[in-house]
Amino acid sequence: MIELEKPPHRTPPAPPASLEHRSLRDGAFWHALPHYAEVDEATFLDHVWQARHSVKTPEELFETIAGVVDAAFIADARHGFEDAPMAVRVSPYLLASIDWSNPYDDPIRRQFIPLRSTARPDHPRLTLDSLHEQQDSPVPGLIHRYADKALFLPLQTCPVYCRFCTRSYAIGPDTAGVDKLALGKTPEAWGPVFEYIREHSEIEDIVISGGDAYQLAPKNIALIGDALLAIPHVRRMRFATKGLAVMPMKILTDPAWVDALVGVVERGRALGKEVVVHTHFNHPSEISAITQRAAAVLFERGVYVRNQTVLMRGVNDDAATMLLLVKRLEYINIHPYYVYMHDLVSGVEDLRTPVQTALDIEKAVRGATAGYNTPTFICDAPGGGGKRDVHSFEWYDRETGVSVWTAPSVKPGTYFLYFDPLAALAPAMQARWGVPELQDRMIADALAHAGGTVAALA
Ligand SMILES: *Cc1c(COP(=O)(O)O)cnc(C)c1O
Ligand code: SF4
Repeated sequence: MIELEKPPHRTPPAPPASLEHRSLRDGAFWHALPHYAEVDEATFLDHVWQARHSVKTPEELFETIAGVVDAAFIADARHGFEDAPMAVRVSPYLLASIDWSNPYDDPIRRQFIPLRSTARPDHPRLTLDSLHEQQDSPVPGLIHRYADKALFLPLQTCPVYCRFCTRSYAIGPDTAGVDKLALGKTPEAWGPVFEYIREHSEIEDIVISGGDAYQLAPKNIALIGDALLAIPHVRRMRFATKGLAVMPMKILTDPAWVDALVGVVERGRALGKEVVVHTHFNHPSEISAITQRAAAVLFERGVYVRNQTVLMRGVNDDAATMLLLVKRLEYINIHPYYVYMHDLVSGVEDLRTPVQTALDIEKAVRGATAGYNTPTFICDAPGGGGKRDVHSFEWYDRETGVSVWTAPSVKPGTYFLYFDPLAALAPAMQARWGVPELQDRMIADALAHAGGTVAALA
């Protein structure tokens, strides 16, 4: 018998760029911003210092970045804040993570600091509570849309305020243009929420969001966690916080908060119930060596963390950036769960992308790493349809930007619409959207293709 000599199989070594996800910003990077040049590491890692020195007015922001940006940028941002429906709050950690040599293009700046020069008019079909959360709210502070899960909003403050917040109808102090809705925000106000959940035995899964669980005092993390764990039919719970992305040092320097969280996770585990954290990173540069240390603490203590990203123009709307984000998250043991289409929220039209962008990026990301670390791309159907896989539209007209969605397990028989940003459409098409009768015609056409009618619209 003849032995055929086979060449040994060799996968060529990975090019260095493909390992970029392992290269995390480290050292005293905040010293690059003159305002923080004297801040030592212990101070910068102190979560109380971070909270106290978070900028809460445009003027505080401008003081912090004085000398590193020009007057034109300051004026642009000042006008941006005058127009914005959200209040401002940005942590020193985030401010130090922005590349101030190019603030216009920086992906973190885009998420937190509005500019008038890049603002675009809202889509004509946009409403402030685009997800119709208030209609699905049986008691203040609770949204019950899906049969077996509910969203609990125990408070209305966050460690930062994001320009693109879906809940800008409720989060943060009132701004010039918007009176916020009062949600429950004290332990006394939570009683009716617990009562409702207790009376609805179909609810197995609670998302504790807000606002942000980072803002809950340790005793309230325990109070909420234990109240929910004590309800026999509640099987799963997620504490939602953007904190890991915007103030990771809290995990390193607030042991009381971490202990309270871990306590609920452990008591849940003993009861056979899952308690996890959901967080919210949007760009790979939000992940530093500090984040890695914080994620390692949670991993070591047995806290499972999933991530939800919002797809945003100029932030993460290209395949390379999204892939780097996914790889970096999994590298620090955070599991990419969802990438959302940007909701139809007022005042942030410059951040939205067409549905097609999500379809393209999903195709590029899938297959690049473990399937369980590959996020599902979602459109949260405006009008209360809930989250839909972006590939599952009933009809999508790329010319008009109208997509039609159904949600058989949430609201059977109802049709939902999403609208691509006008700026992504051809100029003639943008002009058509300026005429109300033509808007109605484009919508009716799309519905007809999808097999629906205007009467069946959400
Ligand atoms: C997103 C959301 C949930 C949780 O949905 P999952 O798809 O399970 O992550 C629950 N309730 C409401 C109202 C939501 O918007
Ligand atoms: S942290 Fe979350 S809830 Fe708070 S403003 Fe940002 S997106 Fe909204």
